[in-house]
Amino acid sequence: MADTADFIDLRSDTVTKPSAEMRDAARDAEVGDDVYRDDPTVNELERRAAAAVGTEAAIYVPSGTMANQIAIHVHTEPGQELLLERESHVYRWELAGASKLSGVQTRTIDAGERCVPTPEAVAEGLVEEDLHRPGTGLLSLENTHNFRGGTAIPIGEIAAAAETARDAAVPVHLDGARVFNAAVALGVDASEIVAPVDSVTFCLSKGLGAPVGSILAGDEEFVEAARRVRKLFGGGMRQVGMIAAPGLLALENVDRLADDHANAERLAAGLDALDGVAAPEPDTNIVVARTEAAGLPAGDLVDACDDAGVGGVEFDDYTTRFTTHLDVDDTDVDDAIERIGHAVTELSN
Ligand SMILES: *Cc1c(COP(=O)(O)O)cnc(C)c1O
Repeated sequence: MADTADFIDLRSDTVTKPSAEMRDAARDAEVGDDVYRDDPTVNELERRAAAAVGTEAAIYVPSGTMANQIAIHVHTEPGQELLLERESHVYRWELAGASKLSGVQTRTIDAGERCVPTPEAVAEGLVEEDLHRPGTGLLSLENTHNFRGGTAIPIGEIAAAAETARDAAVPVHLDGARVFNAAVALGVDASEIVAPVDSVTFCLSKGLGAPVGSILAGDEEFVEAARRVRKLFGGGMRQVGMIAAPGLLALENVDRLADDHANAERLAAGLDALDGVAAPEPDTNIVVARTEAAGLPAGDLVDACDDAGVGGVEFDDYTTRFTTHLDVDDTDVDDAIERIGHAVTELSN
């Protein structure tokens, strides 16, 4: 990353730095040994997090990846199949954790442009246990969909896919790392998105701005089981109120995600106007810029943007992702458009 004071870091919404208020809250947090359930700050965070997604219970974990992997471990038996969409984070970016940590076999669904499987696609992917076949242990869905550019999947589509699995007695997990972005974009309560599934992951450390941590939520029985698996995976932590306290403040940042969405829309419009760049209007805070028409590889664009003072990430050969967040405002977005424009012009010459 270029070392300039005014670098506009749009690599991810994970790059936000904790606010002064969060740092104060961390310092002043009441703490205890959370493995003994003695940390009042964590207990409060888990209560408030469960309420935020409308589940009976929730557990605080170090990362979204761990939350997803714990969910898979709790819901499945080794040798079963995990049914999931082929562009999903769990399948693409979690180091084959499902097979390594839980011994499941993955079966992928090609869910097309929006990456939300239809009930028919789910039905086709479900495997019934018999003498030769292992049986499906879990369906995993994602909302917002990261790789598709933060698409907010409507409640009905998640519900229809989930219902098909649950009708076959297969539980459903939602990777809702950015589920509040989906809720804000759809104008619904997150609990409505979560209602049709058995468990949900969400990240405190992305758009909500906490320095560390994610939540795994579900019913009491599920969360009790998750507590044991978290320990198994090495995620049982002690005076963790120090990092949970900023998480409590992060839960208050839900409504302001609308600002990130407005900034992303502004950014996409600015980039789409550049020659050779296609940046469709985003649903939420993730902008994908496609530069295939200009023959401009994403890796080259990312390097040139870095030199120009803007951070982005390579998503695919010709796809670059830029993400808006708490630490960038509309002026930063305008500056970013100008800098990315220079980078594109320079590369095209
Ligand atoms: C970021 C992300 C995760 C993983 O979260 P980490 O805290 O980075 O481990 C999981 N799923 C999706 C969709 C994500 O965007």
